[in-house]
Formats: sequence, structure tokens, C-alpha cells
Amino acid sequence: MKTFDTPMGKLRVEVLGHASVRFDIDGKVIYADPYSEVCSFKGFPPADLILITHNHYDHYDEKALCEIETPDTTFVASQNVGPVDDRYIVLANDQFCTWEGIQVMAVESYNVNRRNPSGELFHPRGVGNGYVLDFDGFKVYLAGDTEPIPEMQELPKIDLAFLPKNLPYTMTDEEFIKAANLIKPRYLYAYHYFEIDVPALRAKLDPSIELLN
Ligand code: ZN
Ligand code: ZN
Repeated sequence: MKTFDTPMGKLRVEVLGHASVRFDIDGKVIYADPYSEVCSFKGFPPADLILITHNHYDHYDEKALCEIETPDTTFVASQNVGPVDDRYIVLANDQFCTWEGIQVMAVESYNVNRRNPSGELFHPRGVGNGYVLDFDGFKVYLAGDTEPIPEMQELPKIDLAFLPKNLPYTMTDEEFIKAANLIKPRYLYAYHYFEIDVPALRAKLDPSIELLN
């Protein structure tokens, strides 16, 4: 659990494993990609907002969702997630919504090289979302399942970034470093990883970036 000062007040961040993250701000609870294989959500506070980057089972997990969703939960999801009901806001890349004063921008998140045995990209361009959450100036970037992509250069100044690191679906360690040094967030978490060598990553990161793993 880590706390950050934002113009909207204290933002508490809990990294739950894989791509699952919980954010608490101003009495509201936000989850990203809750996944029951890495965290039991039983007993967790109900979700005010749930962000879903794409429809893979490790990101859109009904078993986790049913532990934390309520009739009043808002979902922000990518286009391929379903079934959706009137609690859902579906965003395509480059679309945004504002929820409780927090701007949620959907950004690109896709594979360039990595394909399944049938030759299809694991994450084709234009399907899944990364998200930039803007807490009145404090910006959090959840990259989703992506490789380093040119659109990362167009991101606004990011205060806190979550970048994935695992093969064959997302980035190698070298690509993780490349993406991080391009985005230059003040704070960084590697997520969605199977193994991690924190000192080795830290040694290659721009010194302005604080790796929090
Ligand atoms: Zn995926
Ligand atoms: Zn994934």
C-alpha cells in the first residue's frame, strides 16, 4: 500500500497481483482488472468504479467482479468486453469519460510483434485499452497488455505508471525499460509479470524514475 498526494487528496494504491490494482481516493474505491487467481476479493470493499482493459480472462474475470460489484458500480471497459449493461461506459481508444471528477482516458494498448501459434497478435491494435486517470493533475497510467508503442510518446506527463512485463504477451525487460524511459513517469510499478529482478531493472531506468516494486 502506497499513498500519493494529489490535488484531489490522498490517493492510496494497492497492487494486488498480475494487472489488478486498487485505488482509494476521497472515500471511493476503484479497481483495475480485478483477477481472482491472484487475489481473493472476498471481504474487499465494494467497487465504485471498475476499469477493464480488455476481455482476456486475466483482466475481465467475472468471479472477481461478482465479489466487488454492486448495482451502483460504474464500469469503464474496452469495446470487446461483455456482456455490458447500463452500468458500463465503453470507451474506444482516444475516448474519455469523467467519473466523480476523475477523467478516464482510454489510450492505445497493443502488440506489434507478439503472436499466438496461429499467427494472430495477442492484442491487436484498436481492441484493448490502456487508461490514463487524471486526478485533477496527478496522472496515473495503466498500460494494459501492450508492447512499447509509438503512442506512448504522446502521453501527457505521467506521475505514476503501471507497465506490464512478461513474455510472450507483453514486454521483455529491455522493452519495459525502453517504454519506461520514454514515458518517464515519476513513479513506476512493473505489473503483469511472472518474475522480476528489481535491482537489474532499477539499474537501467532513468534516474528520475522511482521503481516502486
Ligand atoms: Zn491480454
Ligand atoms: Zn494479460
